[in-house]
Amino acid sequence: MIVTRFAPSPTGRLHLGHAYSALFAWHKARDAGGNFLLRIEDIDRARCREAFVAGIEEDLRWLGIDWDGDVRRQSEHFPDYRAALDRLEAQGLIYPCFCTRADIARAASAPHGAEAIYPGTCRDLGPDERRRRIEAGATYALRLDVERAFDRTGPLDWVDEGLGTVEANPLALGDVVLARKDTPASYHLAVTVDDAIQSVTLVTRARDLFLATHIHRLLQALLDLPVPHWHHHKLLTDEEGKRFAKRDRAMTLAEMRAAGTTPNEVRALAGL
Ligand code: GLU
Repeated sequence: MIVTRFAPSPTGRLHLGHAYSALFAWHKARDAGGNFLLRIEDIDRARCREAFVAGIEEDLRWLGIDWDGDVRRQSEHFPDYRAALDRLEAQGLIYPCFCTRADIARAASAPHGAEAIYPGTCRDLGPDERRRRIEAGATYALRLDVERAFDRTGPLDWVDEGLGTVEANPLALGDVVLARKDTPASYHLAVTVDDAIQSVTLVTRARDLFLATHIHRLLQALLDLPVPHWHHHKLLTDEEGKRFAKRDRAMTLAEMRAAGTTPNEVRALAGL
């Protein structure tokens, strides 16, 4: 049976881009008689708000989107992510990175506005130096040594329902962060573990997360997790071709509703 999910972060109200993502996943499941799940991706406790969780559920119900079973909240499942991290650590694939964002941007000379690819500064620190810094109370992130991990698994591929078979290229994002000193999970780790625990068979997400999928495929191989299919859908854009995003203050579904827009009109705008 097909199982899809919508997995927003409660850092703001939903906008039209979210409506498109949610409707896309919901249709994929419901049109095939499958299950549709809702997952709240709230590991970033500083940015997530309880009121936005309620807002997400309210907006989805208003759109006529129903979900199966309980809503999974990532903040309630840190031990699951910790266990996965421990397995990777036991394989010698994780290392602490003490760089600040500014250090990384400087060392990687990222083009303006782009997220810098980590240049591997802390990868080769010796065990004594690592211990010294940790004992001195330095903050750090735990990164995956992607090259070593990919050497371990060998070539991997995955199926994108829109593109066919895709060869995995996890090196494209560099040594991604899998956890932080005080948070035993990052987006990549939590999403991969959760999709497996929730038996998601088709991961639908927007194309801006395409490169992340290569990392998730690698993590699945390292953690012996089942491999779903993916479907990377288009990013809905406004009349000027700009994507809808919370940070741009795109009109939220709540504001559209208050202005008299109906659920059917939202569906028509999303084209779903
Ligand atoms: N939580 C992610 C977001 O808000 C989406 C999860 C995923 O599909 O990987 O963009």
